[in-house]
Amino acid sequence: MARQTVVLGAGIVGVSIAWQLQQRGHQVTLIDRHQPGRETSFGNAGIIQREAVRPYAFPRDMKTIMSVLPNKRVDIRYRPAGMINAASPLLSYWHNSSSRLYKKIVPEYASLIELCLKTHEPMIEAANADHLVRREGWLEIYRTPKKLAQRVKEAEEARDHYGVQFAVLDREGLAEKEPDLGSDIIGAIHWLDPWTVADPGALVAAYADSFTQLGGRVLQTDIKGVQQQGKRWQVDTAAECLEVDEVVVALGPWAGSWLKGLGYHFPTFVKRGYHMHYTTQPSAKLHYWLMDAEIGYLLAPMNAGVRLTTGAELDRLESPADEKQLADAEKVARSVFPLGERREASAWKGARPCLPDMKPVIGPAPKHSGLWLAFGHGHQGFTLGPATGQLLADMMEGKPTEIDMAPFRADRF
Ligand SMILES: Cc1cc2nc3c(=O)[nH]c(=O)nc-3n(C[C@H](O)[C@H](O)[C@H](O)COP(=O)(O)OP(=O)(O)OC[C@H]3O[C@@H](n4cnc5c(N)ncnc54)[C@H](O)[C@@H]3O)c2cc1C
Repeated sequence: MARQTVVLGAGIVGVSIAWQLQQRGHQVTLIDRHQPGRETSFGNAGIIQREAVRPYAFPRDMKTIMSVLPNKRVDIRYRPAGMINAASPLLSYWHNSSSRLYKKIVPEYASLIELCLKTHEPMIEAANADHLVRREGWLEIYRTPKKLAQRVKEAEEARDHYGVQFAVLDREGLAEKEPDLGSDIIGAIHWLDPWTVADPGALVAAYADSFTQLGGRVLQTDIKGVQQQGKRWQVDTAAECLEVDEVVVALGPWAGSWLKGLGYHFPTFVKRGYHMHYTTQPSAKLHYWLMDAEIGYLLAPMNAGVRLTTGAELDRLESPADEKQLADAEKVARSVFPLGERREASAWKGARPCLPDMKPVIGPAPKHSGLWLAFGHGHQGFTLGPATGQLLADMMEGKPTEIDMAPFRADRF
């Protein structure tokens, strides 16, 4: 008989796991309080980041730390209450960002990133979602030759060690690709491998449709709790009670607090982010996804308009929105590209689910059999969902995995 599995959470991570398992003949129910792909996986910048082999480290140099303190930078904001709340994981994040520890983390993280395109590809094909995906890379734009040169050095390392492809563009080269950019921009790195998605939520929804076409079931309801009963699991939801062989927790930013109910205390924290869509001024056109790297926000020509996404806001998951960071990013963005009107009355708010060593948890829960965990994908969950799906499904079936999974074990915390 087919193994019965419940996947909790229908973001990119949960949907990808459900899709993989269903394809392999498991009988899967995917549960979320919303339709698939309506939370973090909806509002992100939509880049499948093959270039992101170096996860975002906590700044360690005094100059950067001092510049963050007045809380006026565009790329990072904090609220003191949020910092106090996450003090212990943040301290551990800072510790893990030392050059000695970070050097070990990069190849581990890169081993996951290297799987991103080839694991998205079969899902895009099965979901008939090619119309949402562009395969032209994205642009990281620079204002000062020194910063661009530093980044080119990192790009060369990424190329030499992890096969990342890029081109360096001077002002003229960039103007050929993006003629409407402001004069402060002196050049760019064009990351050539990544794919960009014109509506990330729609891609996750298409993956979920493909899952249901394979025979999987989506149940839209609130998850109340799970209990182990002998070798099986009981899953209580607001709608019904299910009995299954295995449970996968893929609850993104909610995973940490939810797992406390089962006796797990993972050092999770969130980096919140906002987005807003804009029209463009008449005759202006944005062709590529582009990140204003020295300021720290991103502009993306999506189906809903030009989407501006912000950097990190360190605050509690549930604190109310503060749109100042977005407003400040918008002010700078208007000097870079001729944005028009805002398209929504208020900003979308989401939260990157983070762990202090910058790597997700993917694997079995240490204290329960038949319980599997996949969360903490931070800045690159949209990129890494399908790779996580493939790797976790292999682990659940007792098959060898394509990469070493030890760096992602839950019991490292
Ligand atoms: C501004 C911004 C830009 C980003 N840009 C990129 C990018 O360009 N590329 C990239 O790779 N990543 C990007 N990310 C990160 C990426 O979006 C996340 O890492 C990823 O979406 C996390 O996916 P997830 O499936 O783990 O979580 P989610 O998508 O949040 O899914 C978790 C699900 O759990 C459900 N849930 C929680 N609790 C319950 C409950 N009790 N009952 C029922 N359902 C529940 C929620 O409804 C939700 O649907 C960005 C993030 C932000 C905020």
